[in-house]
Amino acid sequence: MKLDIATLVFVTSVLWLCQTAALIVQYRIAKVYPGMFWWLVAVIVQTAGFWTMLTVLFPPVYVLAMFGNPLMYLGQIFLTVGILKFLDRPVPVKLLLLIYILFLVSYYWFLFGNNHLSARTAVCNVFIGCMSLLSAYYLFRWKKSQFAGAANFTSLVFFCFALVEFLLFLILIFSLSYFKYSEVNQHPVALLNYIAPIISSVLWTYGLILLVNQRLTADVQVEKEKLRLIFNIGPQAEFITRMSDSRIIDANNEQSTLTGYSIQEVLGKNMLDLNLWVQPQDRASYIDELIRHGAVNQREFVFRRGDGRMFVGLTSGRLIHIEDQQHVVTSILDITGRKEMEQKMQAVLAEKDAQYQTLSQIQDQLLKMNGELERLSAQDKLTGYFNRHKLTEMLEHEIFRWSRYGHSSTLVMVDIDHFKQINDRFGHLAGDKVLVDLSALLQANVRKTDLCFRWGGEEFLFLLTETEYLQAMRTAEKLRRVVETCFDFPVGSLTISLGVVTWREGWSYEEWIQQADQALYEAKEQGRNRVVGKTPQE
Ligand code: GH3
Ligand code: MG
Ligand code: MG
Repeated sequence: MKLDIATLVFVTSVLWLCQTAALIVQYRIAKVYPGMFWWLVAVIVQTAGFWTMLTVLFPPVYVLAMFGNPLMYLGQIFLTVGILKFLDRPVPVKLLLLIYILFLVSYYWFLFGNNHLSARTAVCNVFIGCMSLLSAYYLFRWKKSQFAGAANFTSLVFFCFALVEFLLFLILIFSLSYFKYSEVNQHPVALLNYIAPIISSVLWTYGLILLVNQRLTADVQVEKEKLRLIFNIGPQAEFITRMSDSRIIDANNEQSTLTGYSIQEVLGKNMLDLNLWVQPQDRASYIDELIRHGAVNQREFVFRRGDGRMFVGLTSGRLIHIEDQQHVVTSILDITGRKEMEQKMQAVLAEKDAQYQTLSQIQDQLLKMNGELERLSAQDKLTGYFNRHKLTEMLEHEIFRWSRYGHSSTLVMVDIDHFKQINDRFGHLAGDKVLVDLSALLQANVRKTDLCFRWGGEEFLFLLTETEYLQAMRTAEKLRRVVETCFDFPVGSLTISLGVVTWREGWSYEEWIQQADQALYEAKEQGRNRVVGKTPQE
């Protein structure tokens, strides 16, 4: 076989264009992985480098040829960058830059410093060999299991190419000026220098496409498995049917519980064969909504199970295109249990509501009774006056107020004279009536703001608020006289004795009451039916 330089150049240039086209097509179809862009750039730069080298044949622009090899080598570096990115590895930018600078220095040294074609070729061989070896290493070392086969193949291609390049380098440095390019026919080594890059570049382009395909296939497989899992994991039955003839092309595990058929049995059946829809108009409305909106979201229809039982199914659907044909994805979730639960919950809630109403009525009654109890606990039953318990509570509170604002109030203690005799003479009931009448009479003769308490059996206390001593003495005297002159009691006339004491700063309520009691005692001592007062100074 005779190969001349023109044939080789022609073949190589066509090959470079084919490779560029192949990688462009692949990039357009699946630009999913990092690094693919760099491969495209690499092959474009290498093609540009090769075509630049060809300018050597055209004297007006032949100087451009000196950029050919540096461009080709830059392309090879980009190829390695693409491989690293594809493998998700960091790119050693500094190392690659250093290699490229070393290459440029050596290459141009043998062009401008010491123009030597074979030496330049040797430089290219060794640097290309190194970069190929790096690519082979990266692919072998960092490949992922899902594309290991393609990675091993491509790595081997780069490795073999590196070996050939090193071999050429050794041959060249041991026999410099060994050949000229025009002598490619005569020298197998020169031939190899052309053939090796051609073969390797075809193989690594093929390898890169394989890498992407293998990775894509593995990823698609993983996606399929994930989708199948999602398809099968839910509690709902799923069907994919062809729109044109309602044939089931896919179904999940859960549909078996509804239809009673296994997946294998259901595939290829017409959806109507399953006898799922109870009302034909439901199915018509479902299909109609699908056609109009492309989707149906969570509508409730009644379906029939394989065993004939009815159930309420929450139904969703989507229109999709598979192989240019309209298909329907239908999902049916049996919500009969949920419905029953909802009804039960509603019944329970209604019952609870009724209980709540009853409870709140009881609560209202309790509140009323509590109020009544409080009133009763504060009041004396016979006279309606506040009782002793309330007295201490109120006095304590009032003392705080007076201490703060400095107002004066006076206590008047009242005791019926010889009440025991009344009881003895007229009976206890008549005594009670006297107590009732007298308390009403006394209350009618004090101010509305004054507070009346039943202190003991026939003893009363009046708290004359905002009332000074002399005023209180006048009121006490008035009370005494009113009782003395009243003959409406069932026992005839009676008299009372009164003790009057105005509050003094620093007294506790016990001391104050005790002082009033003392004054009353003195009134009794002095002959009854009188008022004895103690001034604040005493
Ligand atoms: P004095 O002038 O010293 O006050 O003599 P007195 O008889 O009024 O006083 P004493 O304390 O000896 O008697 C009070 C009587 O009051 C004794 C008791 O039976 C009677 N008494 C106390 N509480 C009631 C009551 O709620 N109803 C009736 N009917 N009598 C009562
Ligand atoms: Mg008494
Ligand atoms: Mg008495």
